[in-house]
Amino acid sequence: MARVALVTGGMGGLGEAISIKLLALGYKVVTTYSPNNTKYQAWLDQMKEAGHTFAAYPCDVSDYDSAQACVAAIEKDIGPVDVLVNNAGITRDMTFKKMDKVNWDAVMKTNLDSVFNMTKPVTDGMIERGWGRIINISSVNGQKGAFGQTNYSAAKAGVHGFTKALALEVARKGVTVNTISPGYIGTKMVTEIPQEVLDTKIIPQIPMGRLGKPDEVAGLVAYLASDEAAFVTGANIAINGGQHMS
Ligand code: NDP
Repeated sequence: MARVALVTGGMGGLGEAISIKLLALGYKVVTTYSPNNTKYQAWLDQMKEAGHTFAAYPCDVSDYDSAQACVAAIEKDIGPVDVLVNNAGITRDMTFKKMDKVNWDAVMKTNLDSVFNMTKPVTDGMIERGWGRIINISSVNGQKGAFGQTNYSAAKAGVHGFTKALALEVARKGVTVNTISPGYIGTKMVTEIPQEVLDTKIIPQIPMGRLGKPDEVAGLVAYLASDEAAFVTGANIAINGGQHMS
């Protein structure tokens, strides 16, 4: 039977590529969208026309109750979640001098609390069934810090701390927990950065001299989700064109 893969933030640049990749590999793919997102139906229709049929559920990943209700509905309608990709995330960049509590909290809740909120309702089932994959999308900026991103860097570093601790707890249960830390990938989150900043500040930091492609991250997710990756757990896999090596 096809495994169920839940990808949060499926309508985003990376989420879409990950969802398409997992679908092509035979998973039943379920995506989530923010409850206030009015474009999801058009996106689902567009995906369907292109041959990609996903289920999609509203979910505010930053809200514990919304996440529990979303996973309960998915498990009732579609089946137990075998692969969870915690991909949804936001940035609210500003120097620490300007950083206020609202923008700190928004980033911590959406990028870090969300990982707890979504992982909590799927883990017991994975353990009972003796198989599961939790894949957390962090960032190079969680590994090395970034100017103007005290909130984002802290949240993304926290994601990997979570990964390592949970990986230890479930290591003997057939469940792996891993982090992927992408560098700059050509999605809306990055292409919204002014071209001049990309050309003069960001791309010159990348030894490969280009942005990453969403498909390249999707390929890594597919590997971590596979049976072949059964011995990989607690890892933080960088995919950044050589920008940061640790
Ligand atoms: P996008 O902005 O394209 O997509 C982000 C997705 O997150 C959207 O689908 C959005 O859903 C969803 N989302 C945001 N807030 C919530 C919420 N409260 N509840 C539910 N869903 C939410 O970003 P990317 O695809 O570029 O990024 C995906 C992940 O990869 C993020 O975690 C990001 O931090 C990380 N990353 C990205 C990099 C890059 O270079 N692009 C580099 C390193 C890490 P909706 O549209 O419905 O609101």
